[in-house]
Amino acid sequence: MHPVIIIIVVVVVILVVNVVRIAVKSSRSHFECPACGEHFQASFAQSFFTAHSLGGQYHLTCPKCGQTGLMTSLPGKQ
Ligand SMILES: [Zn+2]
Repeated sequence: MHPVIIIIVVVVVILVVNVVRIAVKSSRSHFECPACGEHFQASFAQSFFTAHSLGGQYHLTCPKCGQTGLMTSLPGKQ
């Protein structure tokens, strides 16, 4: 196989693994708003496209009070 094809395959595999990982994580976790204490579920799209740290902090907007900031994902459904 051509080396370029191998690199493309590796990149695609990493992307797919990442998408699956985030999809599973977002369906199994929820967030707590630091401002009002609201517990809410983030959608896959929100989890995927927002900036997030390896420590499980996501930049999200609270659906209740509109607070925007880094929110830590908590295990389990809301
Ligand atoms: Zn809030």
